[in-house]
Amino acid sequence: MSRKNGKSSYGVLFLLGLVVAGAAYIYTSVMFERDLPKVTLETNGYWNLKAPLQIKIDDESGIKAYTISLKTKDGKKSLYNEQYIEPKLSIDLEIEPPRSAYTMKEKTVKIVVDVTDASKWNFLRGNRVVKEYEFIIDKKRPQLSGVAHSYKISKGGSALVILRVKDENLQDVYIETNYKKKFKLQPFYKEGYYISLVAWPVTQKSFKATMVATDKAGNKKKLYIPFYLKQKNYKVSNIKLSDRFLKGKIAELAEDFAETQGVNGSLEQFVIINEDVRAKNEKLIHKITSVVSDEMISDFKINKMYPLKNAQVVAHFGDYRKYSYDGDQISESYHLGLDLASNAMASIKPQNGGNVVYSDYNGLYGNMPIIDHGLGLYTLYGHCSSVNVNSDDLINAKTDIANTGKSGYAMGDHLHFGVLVQGIEVRPQEWMDKTWIKLNITNIIKDAKKIIDKN
Ligand SMILES: [Zn+2]
Repeated sequence: MSRKNGKSSYGVLFLLGLVVAGAAYIYTSVMFERDLPKVTLETNGYWNLKAPLQIKIDDESGIKAYTISLKTKDGKKSLYNEQYIEPKLSIDLEIEPPRSAYTMKEKTVKIVVDVTDASKWNFLRGNRVVKEYEFIIDKKRPQLSGVAHSYKISKGGSALVILRVKDENLQDVYIETNYKKKFKLQPFYKEGYYISLVAWPVTQKSFKATMVATDKAGNKKKLYIPFYLKQKNYKVSNIKLSDRFLKGKIAELAEDFAETQGVNGSLEQFVIINEDVRAKNEKLIHKITSVVSDEMISDFKINKMYPLKNAQVVAHFGDYRKYSYDGDQISESYHLGLDLASNAMASIKPQNGGNVVYSDYNGLYGNMPIIDHGLGLYTLYGHCSSVNVNSDDLINAKTDIANTGKSGYAMGDHLHFGVLVQGIEVRPQEWMDKTWIKLNITNIIKDAKKIIDKN
């Protein structure tokens, strides 16, 4: 008896084992997976009914069928559907906006994605997911218009633009140029109005600026700014490097810079200093001076810049310098400031208030304070012997910020005066000219406000 009993309990155990193994198989097998198909639709919730929607569906056991439908007040309409005999692990769909949607008046629609996978789970029915995505429909392009702008822009110079943009779902508004630079706009005076200085770099043959507005649904409006373009010739200088200069100033600078450590040839040192160190120093300057505030301003007042009293111009802005040694050209660079000299260690007064954003040493530029005057306009003072201000100091028009000197790449005591618009060096002479400021900045702001007040 006991023997027989023993035998049948083994049988039961064996069967139980089979059931457990079967269940375990089902439980862990891909064929019986219980994960829902994964639906991915990148969206910010807006649709202009022009660009197709990109939908990605993934499933471990494979996708058996899907339906994409449009759900509006009037009901649900199937846009796409598919059944696969051979299940697909991953599919990418491009959902073209339905024609019917384009004429409808509704402000929102839903896209319903219904997917079933090929799993044997759920009594062979598979896993099913239904996802709904709601979209705000915006078919309208932003309304963009110029309010006022400087009449002309000179090569190497600055100009001002004031514009208006209207859109319920505005995403971005900026000024695009022919040389990849995008100028950031600052809110101006009243809602929907923006202001920006723009610059034509001295290194660019031509200039073109276009206002651009985009909304969240991807609608875009562009408007060209019809500046009168004034070409300007800048000096090309051929500079012969002397042994005295190479063994003197260059050898001295080479000791200071990390880039020239272990480099012994004078010409090699010169090329590294004039190109690599310069590029690094300018990169820092551009980064510091590219910042524009988001704060709304209702005016922008700037005095004639006149940083050094009774000064002589010793080198112009925009000079293109070609350096040669023994008849061979070995390097080149643009001089992106105005060199002014008076007495040694003369006081530097920007004549305009602002915020000190840098007050440190910067390679070729030596001791170099930078002042932020607002609206993306900055001034820079290179080769100083001493700097009397610190970063984050607020200065006024009469503050004595530094003294001239010959720190960095300078032969004699002078001030390298730089003016920058959103990270681009511009002609300081314009900002040192009262009439230019009145015609190109002050009057434009005045005119713009008159126009805005009438609207
Ligand atoms: Zn200079």
